[in-house]
Amino acid sequence: MTELIEKLWETGNLSDCELEALITDTHEDTAVLLAERADSVRKKYYGRKVFLRGLIEISSYCKNDCFYCGIRRSCKSAQRYRLDREQILDCAEIGYNLGLRTFVMQGGEDAFFTDDYICGIVSELRRRYPDCAITLSLGERSAESYRKLKAAGADRYLLRHETASEELYNKIHPNEMSLDNRIKCLYNLKETGFQTGAGFMVGVPWQTSADLVRDLRFLQDLQPHMIGIGPFIPHKDTPFRDAKSGSFELTIRMLGILRLMFPKVLLPATTALGTISEAGRTAGLKTGCNVIMPNISPRDAREKYNLYDNKLISGGETAEGISLLRAEIEAAGYEIADERGDFANEPIRS
Ligand code: SAH
Repeated sequence: MTELIEKLWETGNLSDCELEALITDTHEDTAVLLAERADSVRKKYYGRKVFLRGLIEISSYCKNDCFYCGIRRSCKSAQRYRLDREQILDCAEIGYNLGLRTFVMQGGEDAFFTDDYICGIVSELRRRYPDCAITLSLGERSAESYRKLKAAGADRYLLRHETASEELYNKIHPNEMSLDNRIKCLYNLKETGFQTGAGFMVGVPWQTSADLVRDLRFLQDLQPHMIGIGPFIPHKDTPFRDAKSGSFELTIRMLGILRLMFPKVLLPATTALGTISEAGRTAGLKTGCNVIMPNISPRDAREKYNLYDNKLISGGETAEGISLLRAEIEAAGYEIADERGDFANEPIRS
Protein backbone atom coordinates (compact mmCIF):
# COMPACT_ATOMS: atom_id res chain seq x y z
CA MET A 1 0.00 0.00 0.00
CA THR A 2 2.99 2.28 0.51
CA GLU A 3 3.37 2.86 -3.25
CA LEU A 4 -0.29 3.83 -3.62
CA ILE A 5 -0.08 6.37 -0.84
CA GLU A 6 3.14 7.81 -2.27
CA LYS A 7 1.55 8.00 -5.72
CA LEU A 8 -1.55 9.71 -4.34
CA TRP A 9 0.66 12.10 -2.40
CA GLU A 10 2.74 12.98 -5.44
CA THR A 11 0.03 13.15 -8.08
CA GLY A 12 -3.19 13.80 -6.13
CA ASN A 13 -4.95 11.01 -7.97
CA LEU A 14 -5.28 7.24 -8.44
CA SER A 15 -7.29 4.94 -10.68
CA ASP A 16 -10.66 3.63 -9.47
CA CYS A 17 -9.14 0.24 -8.68
CA GLU A 18 -6.27 1.77 -6.76
CA LEU A 19 -8.62 3.99 -4.77
CA GLU A 20 -10.77 1.01 -3.83
CA ALA A 21 -7.69 -0.90 -2.73
CA LEU A 22 -6.67 1.98 -0.47
CA ILE A 23 -10.19 2.51 0.88
CA THR A 24 -10.46 -1.13 1.91
CA ASP A 25 -6.97 -1.52 3.35
CA THR A 26 -7.22 -1.94 7.11
CA HIS A 27 -3.52 -2.30 7.98
CA GLU A 28 -2.23 -0.11 10.76
CA ASP A 29 0.84 0.82 8.67
CA THR A 30 -1.43 2.20 5.97
CA ALA A 31 -3.24 4.41 8.49
CA VAL A 32 0.07 5.66 9.88
CA LEU A 33 1.59 6.56 6.51
CA LEU A 34 -1.65 8.11 5.26
CA ALA A 35 -1.85 10.33 8.35
CA GLU A 36 1.79 11.36 7.92
CA ARG A 37 1.35 12.33 4.27
CA ALA A 38 -2.02 14.03 4.86
CA ASP A 39 -0.49 16.06 7.68
CA SER A 40 2.41 17.21 5.50
CA VAL A 41 0.01 18.38 2.78
CA ARG A 42 -2.25 20.22 5.21
CA LYS A 43 0.81 21.95 6.70
CA LYS A 44 1.91 23.16 3.29
CA TYR A 45 -1.30 25.19 2.86
CA TYR A 46 -2.52 25.84 6.38
CA GLY A 47 0.42 25.24 8.71
CA ARG A 48 -0.69 24.04 12.12
CA LYS A 49 -3.81 26.21 12.10
CA VAL A 50 -7.22 24.89 13.04
CA PHE A 51 -10.19 27.09 12.17
CA LEU A 52 -13.19 27.15 14.46
CA ARG A 53 -16.73 27.62 13.12
CA GLY A 54 -19.50 28.48 15.56
CA LEU A 55 -22.43 26.24 14.68
CA ILE A 56 -25.91 27.63 15.33
CA GLU A 57 -28.65 25.05 14.81
CA ILE A 58 -31.54 27.29 13.90
CA SER A 59 -34.40 24.84 13.31
CA SER A 60 -35.33 21.20 13.83
CA TYR A 61 -38.38 21.49 11.57
CA CYS A 62 -37.79 19.81 8.22
CA LYS A 63 -39.99 19.19 5.23
CA ASN A 64 -37.77 16.37 4.04
CA ASP A 65 -37.91 12.74 5.08
CA CYS A 66 -34.35 11.41 4.67
CA PHE A 67 -34.40 7.87 6.04
CA TYR A 68 -31.25 8.27 8.16
CA CYS A 69 -32.04 11.56 9.85
CA GLY A 70 -33.51 12.06 13.31
CA ILE A 71 -35.26 15.33 12.42
CA ARG A 72 -36.95 13.89 9.31
CA ARG A 73 -40.54 15.01 8.82
CA SER A 74 -42.09 11.75 9.91
CA CYS A 75 -40.00 11.26 13.06
CA LYS A 76 -42.73 11.58 15.67
CA SER A 77 -40.38 11.72 18.63
CA ALA A 78 -38.39 14.67 17.27
CA GLN A 79 -38.74 17.76 19.41
CA ARG A 80 -39.31 20.67 17.09
CA TYR A 81 -38.01 24.17 17.77
CA ARG A 82 -36.78 27.14 15.86
CA LEU A 83 -34.63 30.06 16.93
CA ASP A 84 -35.79 33.55 16.06
CA ARG A 85 -33.68 36.43 14.82
CA GLU A 86 -32.81 37.71 18.29
CA GLN A 87 -31.83 34.27 19.57
CA ILE A 88 -29.59 33.73 16.55
CA LEU A 89 -27.95 37.14 16.98
CA ASP A 90 -27.43 36.37 20.68
CA CYS A 91 -25.66 33.09 19.81
CA ALA A 92 -23.39 34.96 17.42
CA GLU A 93 -22.54 37.53 20.06
CA ILE A 94 -21.57 34.80 22.53
CA GLY A 95 -19.53 33.11 19.82
CA TYR A 96 -17.80 36.32 18.82
CA ASN A 97 -16.81 36.98 22.42
CA LEU A 98 -15.36 33.47 22.58
CA GLY A 99 -13.14 34.38 19.63
CA LEU A 100 -15.06 32.66 16.83
CA ARG A 101 -14.83 34.37 13.43
CA THR A 102 -17.17 32.18 11.37
CA PHE A 103 -20.84 31.61 12.13
CA VAL A 104 -22.70 28.71 10.57
CA MET A 105 -26.48 28.79 10.52
CA GLN A 106 -27.67 25.23 9.95
CA GLY A 107 -31.11 23.75 10.04
CA GLY A 108 -33.77 21.52 8.60
CA GLU A 109 -35.63 22.74 5.53
CA ASP A 110 -38.10 24.94 7.37
CA ALA A 111 -40.46 27.19 5.38
CA PHE A 112 -40.49 29.65 8.29
CA PHE A 113 -37.01 30.71 7.17
CA THR A 114 -37.97 32.64 4.06
CA ASP A 115 -35.33 34.39 1.97
CA ASP A 116 -36.32 37.72 3.49
CA TYR A 117 -36.09 36.46 7.06
CA ILE A 118 -32.65 34.89 6.58
CA CYS A 119 -31.37 37.85 4.54
CA GLY A 120 -32.36 40.15 7.42
CA ILE A 121 -30.30 38.10 9.87
CA VAL A 122 -27.37 37.74 7.48
CA SER A 123 -27.16 41.46 6.77
CA GLU A 124 -27.34 42.26 10.47
CA LEU A 125 -24.51 39.77 11.17
CA ARG A 126 -22.56 41.31 8.28
CA ARG A 127 -23.05 44.80 9.76
CA ARG A 128 -22.12 43.81 13.32
CA TYR A 129 -19.20 41.54 12.48
CA PRO A 130 -17.43 42.78 9.34
CA ASP A 131 -14.42 40.62 10.26
CA CYS A 132 -16.41 37.36 10.32
CA ALA A 133 -17.46 34.85 7.69
CA ILE A 134 -21.11 33.87 7.48
CA THR A 135 -21.92 30.33 6.44
CA LEU A 136 -25.36 28.90 5.71
CA SER A 137 -26.43 25.25 5.68
CA LEU A 138 -30.15 25.31 5.02
CA GLY A 139 -30.59 22.66 2.38
CA GLU A 140 -31.84 22.82 -1.18
CA ARG A 141 -33.16 26.20 -2.30
CA SER A 142 -33.69 27.87 -5.66
CA ALA A 143 -30.86 29.55 -7.57
CA GLU A 144 -32.68 32.83 -7.00
CA SER A 145 -32.74 32.21 -3.25
CA TYR A 146 -29.00 31.45 -3.19
CA ARG A 147 -28.38 34.71 -5.07
CA LYS A 148 -30.35 36.72 -2.52
CA LEU A 149 -28.55 35.10 0.42
CA LYS A 150 -25.19 35.84 -1.19
CA ALA A 151 -26.18 39.44 -1.92
CA ALA A 152 -27.23 39.88 1.73
CA GLY A 153 -23.66 39.05 2.76
CA ALA A 154 -23.36 35.29 3.23
CA ASP A 155 -19.93 33.95 2.21
CA ARG A 156 -20.17 30.18 2.36
CA TYR A 157 -22.76 27.42 2.00
CA LEU A 158 -22.62 23.80 3.16
CA LEU A 159 -24.72 21.22 1.38
CA ARG A 160 -23.50 17.65 1.60
CA HIS A 161 -24.33 15.63 -1.48
CA GLU A 162 -24.68 12.66 0.98
CA THR A 163 -23.74 10.07 -1.67
CA ALA A 164 -22.88 10.49 -5.33
CA SER A 165 -24.26 7.09 -6.27
CA GLU A 166 -27.75 7.52 -7.65
CA GLU A 167 -28.82 4.02 -6.72
CA LEU A 168 -27.68 4.45 -3.12
CA TYR A 169 -29.10 7.97 -2.97
CA ASN A 170 -32.51 6.61 -3.88
CA LYS A 171 -32.31 3.90 -1.22
CA ILE A 172 -31.74 6.36 1.60
CA HIS A 173 -34.08 9.13 0.48
CA PRO A 174 -37.80 9.24 -0.33
CA ASN A 175 -38.95 9.43 -3.95
CA GLU A 176 -39.54 13.14 -3.97
CA MET A 177 -35.84 13.81 -3.42
CA SER A 178 -33.21 13.40 -6.12
CA LEU A 179 -29.45 13.35 -6.43
CA ASP A 180 -29.81 15.42 -9.61
CA ASN A 181 -31.40 18.28 -7.74
CA ARG A 182 -28.85 18.09 -4.94
CA ILE A 183 -26.02 18.30 -7.48
CA LYS A 184 -27.73 21.10 -9.38
CA CYS A 185 -27.93 23.08 -6.13
CA LEU A 186 -24.21 22.57 -5.51
CA TYR A 187 -23.27 23.88 -8.95
CA ASN A 188 -25.68 26.81 -8.50
CA LEU A 189 -24.01 27.64 -5.20
CA LYS A 190 -20.57 27.66 -6.78
CA GLU A 191 -21.80 29.75 -9.67
CA THR A 192 -23.36 32.25 -7.25
CA GLY A 193 -19.90 32.78 -5.79
CA PHE A 194 -20.27 30.94 -2.50
CA GLN A 195 -17.34 29.12 -1.00
CA THR A 196 -19.15 25.81 -1.31
CA GLY A 197 -19.05 22.71 0.83
CA ALA A 198 -20.17 19.24 -0.23
CA GLY A 199 -19.64 15.91 1.49
CA PHE A 200 -20.95 12.49 2.31
CA MET A 201 -21.68 10.05 5.10
CA VAL A 202 -19.42 7.05 5.60
CA GLY A 203 -21.03 3.69 6.27
CA VAL A 204 -24.66 4.36 5.42
CA PRO A 205 -26.57 1.10 4.86
CA TRP A 206 -25.64 -0.61 1.56
CA GLN A 207 -22.69 1.70 0.82
CA THR A 208 -19.78 -0.05 -0.93
CA SER A 209 -16.20 1.03 -1.57
CA ALA A 210 -17.20 1.63 -5.21
CA ASP A 211 -19.79 4.13 -3.94
CA LEU A 212 -17.06 5.93 -1.99
CA VAL A 213 -14.94 6.13 -5.15
CA ARG A 214 -17.94 7.75 -6.83
CA ASP A 215 -18.02 10.33 -4.04
CA LEU A 216 -14.36 11.14 -4.67
CA ARG A 217 -14.91 11.43 -8.43
CA PHE A 218 -17.92 13.70 -7.94
CA LEU A 219 -15.88 15.93 -5.64
CA GLN A 220 -13.06 16.08 -8.21
CA ASP A 221 -15.60 17.35 -10.68
CA LEU A 222 -17.24 19.88 -8.34
CA GLN A 223 -14.00 21.10 -6.73
CA PRO A 224 -15.64 22.36 -3.53
CA HIS A 225 -13.89 24.64 -1.05
CA MET A 226 -15.04 22.55 1.92
CA ILE A 227 -15.72 18.85 2.34
CA GLY A 228 -17.70 17.58 5.31
CA ILE A 229 -17.73 13.87 5.98
CA GLY A 230 -18.67 11.83 9.01
CA PRO A 231 -19.74 8.34 9.95
CA PHE A 232 -23.42 7.48 9.61
CA ILE A 233 -24.86 6.92 13.10
CA PRO A 234 -28.30 5.34 13.52
CA HIS A 235 -31.15 7.19 15.20
CA LYS A 236 -33.57 5.03 17.19
CA ASP A 237 -36.75 6.43 15.64
CA THR A 238 -35.76 6.20 11.97
CA PRO A 239 -36.03 3.32 9.47
CA PHE A 240 -32.28 2.75 9.95
CA ARG A 241 -32.55 2.25 13.73
CA ASP A 242 -31.00 -1.23 13.53
CA ALA A 243 -28.24 -0.38 11.09
CA LYS A 244 -24.60 -0.33 12.16
CA SER A 245 -22.69 2.93 12.55
CA GLY A 246 -20.06 3.80 9.97
CA SER A 247 -16.56 2.78 10.97
CA PHE A 248 -14.21 5.15 12.68
CA GLU A 249 -11.15 3.74 10.86
CA LEU A 250 -12.82 3.99 7.45
CA THR A 251 -13.85 7.59 8.13
CA ILE A 252 -10.27 8.48 9.08
CA ARG A 253 -8.97 6.71 5.97
CA MET A 254 -11.38 8.71 3.79
CA LEU A 255 -10.23 11.94 5.46
CA GLY A 256 -6.60 11.14 4.70
CA ILE A 257 -7.43 10.31 1.08
CA LEU A 258 -9.46 13.53 0.75
CA ARG A 259 -6.57 15.64 2.05
CA LEU A 260 -4.21 14.10 -0.51
CA MET A 261 -6.69 14.56 -3.36
CA PHE A 262 -7.78 18.07 -2.29
CA PRO A 263 -4.70 19.68 -0.73
CA LYS A 264 -6.30 23.11 -0.15
CA VAL A 265 -9.74 22.02 0.99
CA LEU A 266 -11.18 23.07 4.36
CA LEU A 267 -11.82 19.74 6.05
CA PRO A 268 -13.66 19.52 9.38
CA ALA A 269 -13.19 16.88 12.04
CA THR A 270 -16.95 16.57 12.50
CA THR A 271 -19.22 16.13 15.50
CA ALA A 272 -20.27 12.69 14.22
CA LEU A 273 -16.60 11.62 14.20
CA GLY A 274 -16.23 12.91 17.76
CA THR A 275 -19.41 11.07 18.72
CA ILE A 276 -18.35 7.57 17.58
CA SER A 277 -14.93 7.83 19.20
CA GLU A 278 -13.62 9.98 21.98
CA ALA A 279 -10.31 10.23 20.12
CA GLY A 280 -12.15 10.97 16.87
CA ARG A 281 -11.52 14.66 16.45
CA THR A 282 -7.85 14.38 17.43
CA ALA A 283 -7.34 11.53 14.98
CA GLY A 284 -9.07 13.65 12.33
CA LEU A 285 -6.75 16.60 12.98
CA LYS A 286 -3.75 14.31 12.65
CA THR A 287 -5.06 12.95 9.35
CA GLY A 288 -5.53 16.19 7.44
CA CYS A 289 -8.48 17.94 9.11
CA ASN A 290 -8.14 21.66 9.76
CA VAL A 291 -11.59 22.75 10.92
CA ILE A 292 -13.67 22.12 14.06
CA MET A 293 -17.23 23.32 14.48
CA PRO A 294 -18.07 23.95 18.12
CA ASN A 295 -21.78 24.12 18.80
CA ILE A 296 -22.92 27.53 20.04
CA SER A 297 -26.67 26.84 19.87
CA PRO A 298 -28.58 27.33 23.13
CA ARG A 299 -28.36 24.13 25.17
CA ASP A 300 -32.01 23.07 24.75
CA ALA A 301 -31.75 23.57 20.99
CA ARG A 302 -28.66 21.39 20.93
CA GLU A 303 -30.59 18.63 22.64
CA LYS A 304 -33.45 18.87 20.19
CA TYR A 305 -31.35 19.07 17.02
CA ASN A 306 -31.00 15.34 17.29
CA LEU A 307 -29.78 14.00 13.95
CA TYR A 308 -28.54 10.69 15.42
CA ASP A 309 -28.29 8.92 18.78
CA ASN A 310 -25.87 10.17 21.45
CA LYS A 311 -24.87 13.25 19.47
CA LEU A 312 -22.06 15.06 21.24
CA ILE A 313 -23.53 18.24 22.69
CA SER A 314 -21.00 19.37 25.25
CA GLY A 315 -18.09 21.76 24.78
CA GLY A 316 -17.60 24.78 22.62
CA GLU A 317 -20.46 26.92 23.80
CA THR A 318 -18.77 28.31 26.88
CA ALA A 319 -15.42 29.88 27.65
CA GLU A 320 -14.61 26.64 29.45
CA GLY A 321 -15.68 24.56 26.47
CA ILE A 322 -13.43 26.57 24.17
CA SER A 323 -10.45 26.30 26.50
CA LEU A 324 -10.90 22.52 26.66
CA LEU A 325 -11.05 22.48 22.88
CA ARG A 326 -7.93 24.62 22.72
CA ALA A 327 -6.14 22.19 25.02
CA GLU A 328 -7.25 19.24 22.86
CA ILE A 329 -6.04 20.96 19.70
CA GLU A 330 -2.70 21.97 21.24
CA ALA A 331 -2.15 18.49 22.67
CA ALA A 332 -2.52 17.17 19.11
CA GLY A 333 0.21 19.60 17.95
CA TYR A 334 -1.98 22.28 16.32
CA GLU A 335 -3.17 25.78 17.20
CA ILE A 336 -6.46 27.62 17.00
CA ALA A 337 -6.41 30.33 14.33
CA ASP A 338 -7.94 33.68 15.18
CA GLU A 339 -9.03 34.59 11.66
CA ARG A 340 -11.96 33.76 9.36
CA GLY A 341 -10.08 30.93 7.73
CA ASP A 342 -10.99 31.20 4.08
CA PHE A 343 -9.97 28.74 1.39
CA ALA A 344 -6.21 29.04 0.75
CA ASN A 345 -5.18 29.59 -2.84
CA GLU A 346 -1.44 29.45 -2.27
CA PRO A 347 0.94 27.48 -0.09
CA ILE A 348 1.95 29.44 3.01
CA ARG A 349 5.30 31.20 2.93
CA SER A 350 7.66 29.91 5.53
N1 SAH B 1 -30.89 20.52 6.00
C1 SAH B 1 -29.47 20.80 5.85
C2 SAH B 1 -28.67 20.35 7.05
C3 SAH B 1 -28.70 18.87 7.27
S1 SAH B 1 -28.01 18.28 8.80
C4 SAH B 1 -29.00 20.16 4.57
O1 SAH B 1 -29.79 19.50 3.90
O2 SAH B 1 -27.85 20.34 4.20
C5 SAH B 1 -26.30 18.13 8.36
C6 SAH B 1 -25.80 16.76 7.97
O3 SAH B 1 -25.98 15.81 8.99
C7 SAH B 1 -26.47 16.11 6.78
O4 SAH B 1 -26.04 16.66 5.58
C8 SAH B 1 -26.09 14.64 6.95
O5 SAH B 1 -24.93 14.32 6.18
C9 SAH B 1 -25.75 14.54 8.44
N2 SAH B 1 -26.61 13.52 9.08
C10 SAH B 1 -27.96 13.46 9.12
N3 SAH B 1 -28.36 12.32 9.73
C11 SAH B 1 -27.23 11.66 10.10
C12 SAH B 1 -26.98 10.41 10.76
N4 SAH B 1 -27.97 9.63 11.15
N5 SAH B 1 -25.69 10.07 10.97
C13 SAH B 1 -24.68 10.86 10.57
N6 SAH B 1 -24.86 12.02 9.93
C14 SAH B 1 -26.12 12.42 9.70
